[in-house]
Amino acid sequence: MVLGRDKQPHSTATHIPLTQPETSVKPEIQSVVIDVSSQGKPMGKVHQKSTRQRQPISPGDRGFSRRQFLAASAGVAALGAFEWTPLFQVPAASAQSTLTSPPNFPSSIALYQQAFQNWSGEIVLENAWTCAPTSAADVVTLANWAFPVGYEVRARGMMHNWSPLVIPVDSSGANLVLADTTQFLTAVAIDSSGSPATVTAQTGVTMDVLLQDLEDAGLGLTAHPAPGDITLGGALAIDGHGTAVPGVGETLIPGHTYGSVSNLILSLTAVVWNASQGQYVVETFQRSDPAIQPLLAHLGRTFVTEVTLQVGANTRLRCQSFVSVPASALFGAPGSSSQTFDSYVEQSGRVETIWFPFTSEPWLKVWTIAPEKPLLSREVDAPYNYVFADVIPATLSGLIKDILEGDVSVTPTFGQAELAIVAAGLLGTVTADIWGWAKDLLLYVKPTTLRVTANGYAVLTNRASIQQVIYDFITFYENQVALYQAEGNYPMNGPVEIRVTGLDVPSDVMISSATTPQLSALRPRPDQPDSNVAVWFDILTMPGTPYSDQFYRSVEQWMFTHYVGSYAAVRPEWSKGWAYTDSAAWSDPTMLSATIPNAINAGQPGGDNWNAAVASLNVYDPHKVFSNAFLSSFMA
Ligand SMILES: Cc1cc2nc3c(=O)[nH]c(=O)nc-3n(C[C@H](O)[C@H](O)[C@H](O)COP(=O)(O)OP(=O)(O)OC[C@H]3O[C@@H](n4cnc5c(N)ncnc54)[C@H](O)[C@@H]3O)c2cc1C
Repeated sequence: MVLGRDKQPHSTATHIPLTQPETSVKPEIQSVVIDVSSQGKPMGKVHQKSTRQRQPISPGDRGFSRRQFLAASAGVAALGAFEWTPLFQVPAASAQSTLTSPPNFPSSIALYQQAFQNWSGEIVLENAWTCAPTSAADVVTLANWAFPVGYEVRARGMMHNWSPLVIPVDSSGANLVLADTTQFLTAVAIDSSGSPATVTAQTGVTMDVLLQDLEDAGLGLTAHPAPGDITLGGALAIDGHGTAVPGVGETLIPGHTYGSVSNLILSLTAVVWNASQGQYVVETFQRSDPAIQPLLAHLGRTFVTEVTLQVGANTRLRCQSFVSVPASALFGAPGSSSQTFDSYVEQSGRVETIWFPFTSEPWLKVWTIAPEKPLLSREVDAPYNYVFADVIPATLSGLIKDILEGDVSVTPTFGQAELAIVAAGLLGTVTADIWGWAKDLLLYVKPTTLRVTANGYAVLTNRASIQQVIYDFITFYENQVALYQAEGNYPMNGPVEIRVTGLDVPSDVMISSATTPQLSALRPRPDQPDSNVAVWFDILTMPGTPYSDQFYRSVEQWMFTHYVGSYAAVRPEWSKGWAYTDSAAWSDPTMLSATIPNAINAGQPGGDNWNAAVASLNVYDPHKVFSNAFLSSFMA
């Protein structure tokens, strides 16, 4: 399909990061880069700033060796002061190329080596064979080249995932070609004339660009992930979510959903195996067709080239931040105060808490639909307004260095310093009460923020049980923290983050007979119609913090045994950490082979569940071209 408005890949016009708003008072923030790989010693090198390079740059061009590049990346991964992006590409035929070229690679597609690194720096491949398909036809060419020679083709967007969905943790890079969607698969076409309005987009477009284009057309989403520097394809692979349920008196705006971004899909185009032709082909699936269900959120087990989403009228939002509501009230037992988490949800529908370790007051954000600017709000006209949360100030860097070097006893001081920076930052940047278009209030995480690791789960429950679910979680978490602290251990040095969304309800989709995403954490349970919200929990910590995997495991094991029956049910947040052993995520055999598949199967009809989705994905890709060793085992 030829899209209406083709964007030039990485043109200045479309890919320059949106500017920060002018503020009357600038916070005093100094950026510091620390290299974890050299035991936290400050680095001398300055990293490339956010403008991405399109031309291959050889390591020598910048006086960087490949090793230095990786060390630099690891440093930024732990403590990013500049946006991280692979600094160089090595063309396949160049003298610097270190790997044997994949056999008979299609000559029509440029191939080069480039480093892969995921968000937290826990998955790194120094010299992955990489290409940038320019069209769906290129992806078909890649697939039909790959299967006879036994290669995997992995779609990759901005590499801002945690879990091993692009490549496994220990990938050697053998028989692998990454397909970078961000270079060319970025076209967007909006049709505002229909009911609903729609946007057809190639999957390499970033959410930043997509949401800006929608805003320019008077359109928007109710909820979406907080970073915009991720691709649409990446967000759809993992049922990307934000935070929203209906506030008091609120009804759904036509074309919107309180579920995941995947629940907006009306149709999608993927590269799938055609048995009668004996080759991979491009196929478009409609939302009313059950065949689309495993493709709506697929963990990267396919290659989606283009999607059409329903969209609706844009909204103005107000976001108020508080650092004065005690955790004991916010997370207290149901009805225990007038400041419980669910009381804010009840009123405004859109709430997030970021609770730094060993502090008494979380950073509470409450978004409210506000067509007119409230008197006390400051108007903003660009996203990423919490600049203090997107760089590492000097006051924190010393503490981070201590923790990285093993002095975890500073964790309480670190948590308190983080909260103090937020409190001062909200004042200093006049962002405690802001108002503007939805995306400017809902995008607030930049790649320059501290790069930590995280676990992630959605707990499905009834709206009336939100506070109980949170109270139970916090009670368990606090007990665990105290147990570890008593032994002198501080496995969690980042915050607990809590959000609430609706589910991927088919009635939100403005077509008849809409199907549901089989693998989405937000898929409704037909056997539990009262279960109508999901409470999302994440706990963040720096990669490699001692006892962190053990801590994550205890939380996970508890969650899967506690949130059961008609009360609640747990599903993993695919992009983050799950299936913990005492020493690693995505590793526990019982979780991978039984607990998680059972959690997705629970309450779904046979033939329309995890097993069915996995079987369909195998039919779409019987040669496992769009897979990796982890996915092929987990989704066997
Ligand atoms: C700081 C931070 C905050 C975050 N906040 C949120 C949040 O608020 N809500 C939320 O839901 N998520 C959040 N995420 C997770 C994020 O949405 C996912 O990790 C997302 O997948 C990243 O997109 P990407 O472009 O970087 O994808 P990548 O990391 O490059 O890829 C992720 C997966 O998507 C697959 N993929 C990408 N493109 C395609 C395609 N065209 N076809 C098939 N598969 C494809 C890849 O193969 C891989 O399996 C956050 C991540 C970070 C780092």
